[in-house]
Amino acid sequence: MPGRTAEDILSLEYQTVLTAFAGSRCLLGFDFDGTLAPVARDPDQAEIRPRTRGLMAELCLLYPCVVISSRSRSNLRLRVRGLRFKGVVPAEARHQGRALERERARLRCDTAIYLGDGGADEAVFKLDQPGRLLTIRMGQKEGSCADFCLRGQGQVDRLLRRLIALRRRPGVPSTQPGSA
Ligand SMILES: [Mg+2]
Repeated sequence: MPGRTAEDILSLEYQTVLTAFAGSRCLLGFDFDGTLAPVARDPDQAEIRPRTRGLMAELCLLYPCVVISSRSRSNLRLRVRGLRFKGVVPAEARHQGRALERERARLRCDTAIYLGDGGADEAVFKLDQPGRLLTIRMGQKEGSCADFCLRGQGQVDRLLRRLIALRRRPGVPSTQPGSA
């Protein structure tokens, strides 16, 4: 639905949407630059902030998580070293949306949440699969196809904290495929 205005996913009124996804076999997909890490003038200096990294470490134990980026696999691996991502996907010359679909099938997930800051991420935002795919953009942008937004990259930690809390609720099983 291009042209609509995406709402803030952290608004209380959308808590039920996040809760439903968190309670399903849900894949979490992340873009890197401008999403997990603030955009850096020199791409070699882009780093996940320590607080975000701590939250991601926890999140990777609660959900299958993948990072999809136009960086090369080796460059991306270096940047997310120490984090237990189930997939590190270089999307060079490929379609970010198809990359996410492939990862969702490979990891046997029913649903996915994808977080990105636009550009190539629009290919994911355009998939438009209500109830199966929840797309979140860093910041609002007119014309973006994302379902929801965060008010900025600084809100990523709040979203990660909320996703952790939702999986930690009593009665919500971990749906990590392949976990022993
Ligand atoms: Mg980006």
